Amino acid sequence: MIPLAKPLITGTEKERVLAVLESGQLAAGPQVRAFEEAFAAYIGTRHAVMMSSGTAALLASVVALGIQPGDKVFVTPFTFIATANALLYARALPVFVDIDLNTYNLCPEALAEAAREHPDARAAMVVHLYGLPADMERIGAVAAERGLTVIEDCCQSPGAALGGRRAGTFGQAAVFSFYATKNLTTGEGGALVTDDPEVAARARDFIDHGQRSRYHHEQLGYNFRMGEIQAALGLAQLERLEERNEARRANASFYGRRITRRGLVKPVEPPGYRHVYHHYTVRTAEREAFMAHLARQGVGCGVHYPLTVPDQPLYRRVAALGGPCPAAATAARQVVSIPVHPGLSPADLETVAAAVNSFPG
Ligand SMILES: *Cc1c(COP(=O)(O)O)cnc(C)c1O
Repeated sequence: MIPLAKPLITGTEKERVLAVLESGQLAAGPQVRAFEEAFAAYIGTRHAVMMSSGTAALLASVVALGIQPGDKVFVTPFTFIATANALLYARALPVFVDIDLNTYNLCPEALAEAAREHPDARAAMVVHLYGLPADMERIGAVAAERGLTVIEDCCQSPGAALGGRRAGTFGQAAVFSFYATKNLTTGEGGALVTDDPEVAARARDFIDHGQRSRYHHEQLGYNFRMGEIQAALGLAQLERLEERNEARRANASFYGRRITRRGLVKPVEPPGYRHVYHHYTVRTAEREAFMAHLARQGVGCGVHYPLTVPDQPLYRRVAALGGPCPAAATAARQVVSIPVHPGLSPADLETVAAAVNSFPG
């Protein structure tokens, strides 16, 4: 079976991790600081704060930006559930705004309409889904007009760009995940990036038990810190990120040429956008049969995501606003991701494209 995702760990990465194990310092130290500096420089922000997961970083961003219990926050209904859960953790009120079915990202017109309907909303949580940046020009214009704080969920888009600017530089804060299957991995891990030194400082407090100096605790915080082993792995992965993103893009471009099956909608990369293909996701009205066909051909595939967030059992029980979200509902019924990771061989790519094209109908 050609797997849907596969972490790439090379000799350098193993050596760096081994060096940390031998150094005797396993909790936050020089590796974490070096990874923070290198990552901020790569994304193009002044600060990066490393954390234990993308989920922790999402919550830290909400807290550090001062979003209060009851505050309305616009959020996409079509994402991994952690994006919206960060709002629930902080007792904020999610307001779901539909996507553009073409890009799977938050629809700027729908956001403008929602902002007219909820003039008291505080913020917007924007996801760059599958590795394609959302339309930050038009979303940024709505946010500026309405005084909305913008948080970018870049968990699937490290290295993606729009108009030459990297995802993570458009909002007041942005969040990354380094989970095992992500474009850059530390096994588990995450980061918050921002240009605002106050936001960075509040995030640092929040993930370190609210201490500004040792054993002096001003705020309620948590332990969401990253360790040295993860940071050493992350630094080595960062050095390879561009090359691996380019491999993903080359694989996607191969599929763009080779996949010709009628009725399958392929992903788009509008002019000025740099997609980093965390997922290569197609759309079909015959998803079940298509997935069974791929499995028979030895091709791994997955659904990101089978339910919209407001349709999740959890969200049917909690307070949330917004919707209806028909485009998100269509996407949830029809999307299928096929392997696009940089570990695919030319033969694997041929196998996947041939399997897709041989789907009868
Ligand atoms: C992976 C992911 C997260 C959560 O990151 P973790 O590191 O798994 O906590 C949040 N949002 C999106 C869009 C993701 O893909």
